[in-house]
Amino acid sequence: MKVQYSDKVSQVWPLFTNVDIDYGKDVHLYDRLGRKFIDFTSGIGVTNTGHCHPRIVNAIKEQSEKLLHGQTTILYNSMVDQLSYSLQKILPEELNCFFFSNSGSEAVESAIKLVRHATGKPNIICFQGGYHGRSIGALSLTTAKSVYRSGYQPLMPGVFVSPHPYFKQYQGEDTEKRTKQCLDELEHLLNSQSSPSETAAMIIEPVLGEGGYVSPSKEFIKGVRELCNKHDILLIFDEIQTGFGRTGEYFAFKHFDVVPDILVVAKGIASGLPLSGIVANKKLMDKWIPGSHGGTYGPNPLSMAAAIETIKVLEEEDLINNSKQMGSYLLSGLEKFKNEYTEIVDVRGKGLMVGCEFVNENGSPGTLIAEEVRKENLSQGLILLTCGPYNQVIRWIPPLTVKKSDIDRALTIFGSALKNSLG
Ligand code: PMP
Repeated sequence: MKVQYSDKVSQVWPLFTNVDIDYGKDVHLYDRLGRKFIDFTSGIGVTNTGHCHPRIVNAIKEQSEKLLHGQTTILYNSMVDQLSYSLQKILPEELNCFFFSNSGSEAVESAIKLVRHATGKPNIICFQGGYHGRSIGALSLTTAKSVYRSGYQPLMPGVFVSPHPYFKQYQGEDTEKRTKQCLDELEHLLNSQSSPSETAAMIIEPVLGEGGYVSPSKEFIKGVRELCNKHDILLIFDEIQTGFGRTGEYFAFKHFDVVPDILVVAKGIASGLPLSGIVANKKLMDKWIPGSHGGTYGPNPLSMAAAIETIKVLEEEDLINNSKQMGSYLLSGLEKFKNEYTEIVDVRGKGLMVGCEFVNENGSPGTLIAEEVRKENLSQGLILLTCGPYNQVIRWIPPLTVKKSDIDRALTIFGSALKNSLG
């Protein structure tokens, strides 16, 4: 069955499934033909509390009868304070001042603008394989795949790309050696291309998302922090995909014992409604001159109602812990397939941010294999996405409400899909 958008809709959106969506409930999606799917995409890591969690739906319903849009600079809305205080409870005390917007890219733009404004320095260093969004500023920092950048050059100037330990790691290269190499190259970049006096910030996803679901070593992230400290450069963590329990902690930075100067959030914050933001220390945030940044919409009252309730649900339903537990359960299930199929070269993850990387017989990226396996899963009712520079990784991002029985079902389907695709 083919489902596709009409000619009225731009083809710039590829459609990865044949699911003509009707509704979603927790980890399941139902199409208009009445078919039921297990959703291990969470709408690209957004619906962390499951589809249409009743408490969140209720919070949105109640808010929808009170106010849909007020505009943050025209009216004081106590919800903005309430949301900030709710977030403060799950963040370190030094990250204590908030700015909100709508999409992830918009929040990354805010971070770029804040660091330039606050430091008076022009340059930003990003890391190979990172994904930070589609607007020109955020895209300039994005090197996950060239399809995102092709045809849009020249992008924002003042961006320098430093190597990430990803490639080679799974090919058996010593992690410690690779970490040191990448940190050395980063320091060399500061010495050869973008001097500390011109570098406002470094931006990194603590765990690579679109770039392949890869976690660098703790030493790498710590090393980046140390270089920033040494050279008086701000450190931005893009936790748009890793935030709100995805990696088994509220934020991935916890895994590395490193606190950034600016934290960028979106996706999981509001369970599906558009909301994003940046968090920094008040001293840094206060360098922004009033009126020098903003927008019509952010933050929308419905999104704020959803976010305030999302944080309560994550806490009260112990979903961060569930992410950790179910993540290791899923990983051990996938490990078995890795032992069975030589095409699966790596299975990795933190919490419920899990990647399974494929290679061809000759060791090259298994793009076609991953795509075939993904499609085979879809035909059997399991929705998965790929990622990685060659789309050679299948990623597993279920809602954090996922149960053992859902994972068992998903793994059974995956096993059968592997058998059908790889024999
Ligand atoms: N940063 C990261 C790490 C992301 O995963 C994404 C979205 N996939 C973005 C930024 C951009 O967010 P948005 O699509 O909401 O603009």
